[in-house]
Formats: sequence, C-alpha cells, structure tokens
Amino acid sequence: MTDISSALQRVSAAIGSAAQAAGRDGDSVTLLAVSKTFPAAAVREAYAAGQRRFGENYVQELQAKATELQDLALEWHFIGPLQSNKTRPVAELAHWVHSVERLKIAERLSAQRPAALPALNVCIQVNVSGEDSKSGCAPDEVLPLAQAIAALPGLRLRGLMCIPEPTQDAATLAARFGVLATLQQRLAAAGIATDTLSMGMSADMAAAIAAGSTMVRVGTAIFGARHYG
Ligand SMILES: *Cc1c(COP(=O)(O)O)cnc(C)c1O
Repeated sequence: MTDISSALQRVSAAIGSAAQAAGRDGDSVTLLAVSKTFPAAAVREAYAAGQRRFGENYVQELQAKATELQDLALEWHFIGPLQSNKTRPVAELAHWVHSVERLKIAERLSAQRPAALPALNVCIQVNVSGEDSKSGCAPDEVLPLAQAIAALPGLRLRGLMCIPEPTQDAATLAARFGVLATLQQRLAAAGIATDTLSMGMSADMAAAIAAGSTMVRVGTAIFGARHYG
C-alpha cells in the first residue's frame, strides 16, 4: 500500500470516528482531497486508491492538472480566492466552487459556464472569524448573496464554506463552525434549502464534523506537508 492510500484510509477512519462521536452517520461527511502544490502523479495515486474529489486553490494549477489527468473521472473543486479575470477556466473545468464571496464573481461564473455542462455547484465563503480573516463575505451578507445566486441559471447553490483562523481552542472552533451552521438554518428558514457545509481541514476536522460539516477539505493529512516555491 502506498503512503497516500494508507493516509486516505486513516483520514476516512478519522472522519468515521468523529461522525460517530457526534452521533452522525459517517456517510454524511464527504472527503475532499486538497491536492494543491502536489503533482498530478499524487492525484493519480489517490484516484487509484478510490478517491474521486479533489480540491485546488490556484487557477493555473487546476488547469494544468485537469489537462494532465483528463483520462480520469475526477471531480474538481475550486477552493481558493478567485479574481474576476480568472473565472473562465474555473467555470469551464470545475464541478464545484467553494469560495464565492461576492456577486460579481458568481455572475461571471454563471455566464461563463458552458451550456453543455450541468450547473456549477457553488458554496458561499463566509468570514466567520471577523477581523482575524480577510476571505469570505460578512455573515449578514449571506442571505442577499444567496438569493441573488439562486437566480443565476449557470449556478446551483449548494451551501456555505468557511476557514476559521488557525487555533487549537475547541470553544473558538465550535463557535466559528457554529456560525456557518446557523447561517445555513437561516437560509432554509428564508426558503433557500442547501445541503452542504464545507468546513474542516486536517487540523480541525473533528470539530467541524461535530458542528455539522458535510464536506471536509483535507490536504496535509493525505499528501503530507506542502512546499511552496
Ligand atoms: C489548503 C487548504 C485546505 C487543506 O488544508 P490542510 O490543512 O492541508 O488540510 C483546505 N481548504 C482550503 C480552502 C485550503 O486552502
């Protein structure tokens, strides 16, 4: 067994136990393997071990890997900051975008989504950490943004995403993830049903699952430490 396949087994087992500890079904949490900075060969290896969903942060890297791995039935999730002049390749290549934080980006993704493809699945990224984080819309912007996205033909609003500030403090993490879960309930009360809470990474996966995460985005625990350069 390769390092990546045994890491995938460990992460799946950890998801299962976190779900069980929270009184949830392990199948209610989807694993997104975050492959940013790792070569296409690492994705291929994870694919051989049964992993199908992969997350990327950088548009050029997504393009390169999607081209190189065309022969695999992969599901690509774009999870990084997205500038308006880079939306087209994402609209064409991704199955999901987790990091929509303003309407202009959503409108461009919708308009650029090829008509032959199903609607692009999107999550609204929310800043749940206040001043400690720059990415994501403010919690009170979520409802109007969700209403506007729900009206865009090229998009399908699936839910909400957050990245809390790095902390080991369990109470802080529970509060941050709780903000996202509460916002999802508010959307539902306003008639906007969603099925996804994209929250939890290698270091805070269990806390996110306890708070209701349906999709954890895990990089380091699967592929190892990242080296930028
Ligand atoms: C890099 C990244 C991850 C994965 O983080 P790890 O700590 O390596 O698991 C998850 N989500 C987003 C948005 C990321 O940028």
